[in-house]
Amino acid sequence: MNKRITLLKAIVFSLIIIIPIEGFSWGVTGHRVVAEIAQNHLSRKAKKEIKKLLGNETLAEWANWPDFIKSDTTKTWKHTSTWHYVNMPGGLQEEEFIVKLKSQAGNNLYNQILVLKNQIADRSLSIEQRKTALVFLIHMVGDLHQPLHIGHEEDLGGNRIKVTWFDEPTNIHAVWDEKLVDFQQYSYTEYATILNRTTREQRESWQNTSLEKWFYESYIIADKIYAQTPDGAKLKYRYNYIFENDLNTQLLKGGIRLAKILNEVFQ
Ligand SMILES: [Zn+2]
Repeated sequence: MNKRITLLKAIVFSLIIIIPIEGFSWGVTGHRVVAEIAQNHLSRKAKKEIKKLLGNETLAEWANWPDFIKSDTTKTWKHTSTWHYVNMPGGLQEEEFIVKLKSQAGNNLYNQILVLKNQIADRSLSIEQRKTALVFLIHMVGDLHQPLHIGHEEDLGGNRIKVTWFDEPTNIHAVWDEKLVDFQQYSYTEYATILNRTTREQRESWQNTSLEKWFYESYIIADKIYAQTPDGAKLKYRYNYIFENDLNTQLLKGGIRLAKILNEVFQ
């Protein structure tokens, strides 16, 4: 009896530990929206080079693979689990933020985006290696635009902030990964079409800032999310109303900027 209880405790305890870390990213729709928007802004050269790596498959088809492999039990991809986010303390000014972002060691979202860009462009690597790097990059530029992937370490990017979404218990990271996106009730192609109305001027203004600045923009929205979503918050229509614009802008910027990186890499 005692043993059983201990076993049960161990299981419950390990679930509690596992669940917060499992927070995915943008959910399947969000990542596909980012990828689909990017697909529409690729240069002719980039399209040609990407075809050599992905064949006739689209960026959107691959956008979620780096999350799917978290379920791989062979541990082949275990080392990539830290690539999806970077932890930052709250309340930093832009300059401090950028210094901290650049000086953080380890394979985090920021450092790894830089590594992947180089790998994709490196012709001494095999097609398979470059393809893997490309697929990760497609996914991670999406993650970079999900504000809570630039969140606080102590709450695991919001995974520990428990809220309800239309009375269903969840956490604020999951709300931003999936709930808000799914609430719009678009397929990824519909969503991409609806968002993808930009002027050249707008696109250039988003593309021509630094990668560090893109991280900072996400971080500022994360600050706003933290401020507006206390533990135990009951989220419904009003939450969508407050954040819908931020959500859509982030998805759109993600796509426009992914295209910029790919056009640059395949110049
Ligand atoms: Zn991710």
